[in-house]
Amino acid sequence: MKIFDEIESEVQSYARSFPRIFNKAKGELLYDEEGNAYLDFLAGAGTLNYGHNHPLFKEKLLDYIHSDGITHGLDLHTKAKGEFLETFNEKILKPRGLDYVMQFTGPTGTNAVEAALKLARNITGRENIITFTNGFHGVSLGSLAATGNSHHRGAAGVSLSGTSRMPYEGYLGDDIDTTVYLDKVLCDSSSGIDKPAAVIVETVQGEGGINAASFDWLRALDKVCKKHEVLLIIDDIQAGCGRTGTYFSFEPAGIKPDIVTLSKSLGGYGLPFAVVLFRPELDQWKPGEHNGTFRGNNFAFVTAKAAIDYYWSDERFSQEIMHKGEYVSQRLQAIVDQYGEGNFTTRGRGMFQGINCVNGEIAGKITSRAFKKGLIIETSGADDHVVKLLCPLIISKENLSRGIDILEEAIREVCAGEDNIPEQKKYFDPVELAS
Ligand SMILES: *Cc1c(COP(=O)(O)O)cnc(C)c1O
Repeated sequence: MKIFDEIESEVQSYARSFPRIFNKAKGELLYDEEGNAYLDFLAGAGTLNYGHNHPLFKEKLLDYIHSDGITHGLDLHTKAKGEFLETFNEKILKPRGLDYVMQFTGPTGTNAVEAALKLARNITGRENIITFTNGFHGVSLGSLAATGNSHHRGAAGVSLSGTSRMPYEGYLGDDIDTTVYLDKVLCDSSSGIDKPAAVIVETVQGEGGINAASFDWLRALDKVCKKHEVLLIIDDIQAGCGRTGTYFSFEPAGIKPDIVTLSKSLGGYGLPFAVVLFRPELDQWKPGEHNGTFRGNNFAFVTAKAAIDYYWSDERFSQEIMHKGEYVSQRLQAIVDQYGEGNFTTRGRGMFQGINCVNGEIAGKITSRAFKKGLIIETSGADDHVVKLLCPLIISKENLSRGIDILEEAIREVCAGEDNIPEQKKYFDPVELAS
């Protein structure tokens, strides 16, 4: 459609990789205007853990709209918000022994990160924030200062200050525990690293190339933070909400961060929603000190509650994710062994995995070829060198294996140097898939 070239800004990104006009979606499937079906292994960059247009959440949402439930309410107490808070407290926080208060911020991930950083700085009276190589925390100025990627940082136009970068796990090789270095610079008054308010970290770096920190490393990081009385912020915006197998990605490490940010799949239905969780003692905000017009997306409260009720009332969903994750691990390992020629490696955990193709050009060829076969899948990492599997967690086993089959085929063709395959638009039969 010409209109996109005519008046939509050049800043568009995903639309370039998948140049179709999409107009329908259900579960793990997206449909374009011509009725072609695509398997969605991008899933809103981790926003659609429960798939597109989940029928149960949709029903709750439609009921709510039909009954003239509140749509916009600033930060007013609404029934929908109260019910979300109760559900989140009873089914997510309490069973995990987490004692947090909840701050509703503006509805995007970066809004939650900005609030978390501001809170940490205000509480401690310190400016510096420790962030990690390849970390991604959003692109508004405060979050951008914590983000590593030079492509994003370069667009800031102002100096990005108030952060110090430390090596993430594995950055200096497998044998070096980078928390030892962090501890060292925090012990040394001449290290040149100002005593920080907080450390902000992803347990699995999503945009940074699916780098999964070990539980040992996370525990060591937690220890260093406690030792130096520095707050630990886990940015669980992409890794949270079940992506790695547990609701919060840090659960298996046995740590309890001081502050947690959540967004992306929190709303369940793909509706914008973000929160910051923190220990009650840290709740030193003055009324209205931090605000935002859209802190109360009541539609998202309704669907977020539905998602928790339906998927997180017991252990079953978590186990399902783990099983699917093991299947993905096996398949990816086999693919890497067969086609990677010793260069490709697998990375990640749970349903947050990828293949490191080392070379961004190869990874790009693989994803564009996969798209021609009906699979929507993206790359991440500093050089876009990691093919990132982010399919909805609720995907059927059939479509999960089908998606990986397509990926395997694309990898096989790219590795064999088969450059000119005809476009295979109707790889899927939409009717078959919809049934
Ligand atoms: C996506 C993401 C953000 C930013 O969220 P936006 O909604 O794009 O502002 C922050 N942190 C992590 C870990 C993310 O994956």
